[in-house]
Amino acid sequence: MIEDMNSAGSHIAFPEETTLDERDERYLRKAIVWSHAARRRGNRPFGSLIVSADGEVLAEAGNSNAETGDCTAHAEVNALRALAGRGLTREELASATLYASGEPCVMCAGAIFWSNIGRVVYGIDAERLRVFRGERQDQRDAELSCRDVFRASPHPIECIGPALLHEASAAHDGAWAS
Ligand SMILES: [Zn+2]
Repeated sequence: MIEDMNSAGSHIAFPEETTLDERDERYLRKAIVWSHAARRRGNRPFGSLIVSADGEVLAEAGNSNAETGDCTAHAEVNALRALAGRGLTREELASATLYASGEPCVMCAGAIFWSNIGRVVYGIDAERLRVFRGERQDQRDAELSCRDVFRASPHPIECIGPALLHEASAAHDGAWAS
């Protein structure tokens, strides 16, 4: 049986790409644009967008780790913090969607849980991101998926991805080498 193998020769099972509808594609592409913007400014290449049920962009952000020196300044957390003071109701948040150019890490999944946002759409998955990151210890993520976090939530959090893999991967090409 032939499986995909990484450079270290270990077996990797990559999740299958999801096909999005036109609306989700449009917003995920905007999150991907933010991932390129973050990289251009010297940060890790991640972007995020939060969109209301009726299509209003409530917040958008890129990763700003390098610019701020804040290890929690991931794109999703930055976007969630931008919602502060907007006076959104729990119902409005529950019907909103967070778009992320990359699969949310365990911290961001926790922040999404606390925000009460009910739907997540992401681009490149954690497994494919690990191939870009390589085996460097200081670049490794915690191997707990966002779906594991969302499954533990008492309120439902729909999770869709990976999607637009080709586009979502582009910002990571060569970004993790040094
Ligand atoms: Zn994160």
